[in-house]
Amino acid sequence: GYVVEVLHENTFTETKNISDAFNKMLGRMKVLDDSREEFVSNVSHELKTPLASMKVLADSLVTQDQVPIELYQEFMGDIAKEIDRENDIINDLLTLVKMDKTAQNLNISQVNVNDLLELILKRLRPIAEKKQIEIVLESFRPVTAEIDEVKMTLAISNLVENAIKYNHDEGWVHVSLNADHKYFYVKVSDSGIGIPKEDQDHIFERFYRVDKSHSREIGGTGLGLAITRNAVIMHRGSIKVYSEPEEGTTFTVRIPLIYVST
Ligand code: ADP
Repeated sequence: GYVVEVLHENTFTETKNISDAFNKMLGRMKVLDDSREEFVSNVSHELKTPLASMKVLADSLVTQDQVPIELYQEFMGDIAKEIDRENDIINDLLTLVKMDKTAQNLNISQVNVNDLLELILKRLRPIAEKKQIEIVLESFRPVTAEIDEVKMTLAISNLVENAIKYNHDEGWVHVSLNADHKYFYVKVSDSGIGIPKEDQDHIFERFYRVDKSHSREIGGTGLGLAITRNAVIMHRGSIKVYSEPEEGTTFTVRIPLIYVST
């Protein structure tokens, strides 16, 4: 009797373990499936919005007999803007999808990170100047790291672009570079509008924008930070945000100096 009981007991726990594992796996698959479904529905929504605007604008021109030239030009200008927006979304989506695919093959080389940051800021200064925003770079030490230059440039450019976009006129953007024996750290701080606490956990999600109407006015696809986070994770790094609404925002990126593939 005793032996049989023990056997039963074991078979029962085994079966239970297997069914637990199976349920767990099903649960994970469901989460994946849900997030894929949500992504596709988000994409469709985002792509349809500019189309809907264009349709309204085009329809209202078509249904009028005599369209004053000013009105015609204004509406056509608006249509062109919506086309640009559609283009931005598609480009960002392609970048994201491409990243997902190449997660295993980063193009790693020894990169001078000081030079990389200088180049990024040189490219973005003209945009900052339009809002009379000053960008300052503080390099605490020379840093060379094993990174994918293109992807890291994209990741950091997105942060600096945001620091300009969500800033006030005559504000500032402060970029700093530091390192210890294991990691380098890029910090991007701004004097901008800040991010409400309840949104801070979500801003890295695809298509998430704090203030839809305001962000729409400013321009942007809601994909920039998702792209940045992807690139950082591919480098086995981490990214953090600190923000006070009305005061400003700081993003800190930490990347290993040496790339270790799995
Ligand atoms: P977007 O294309 O809308 O800029 P991102 O993915 O780059 O998309 O950013 C997501 C959202 O996070 C933005 O819409 C904005 O609301 C918020 N955000 C990002 N960076 C900043 C910043 N430096 N200051 C304030 N808000 C920011």
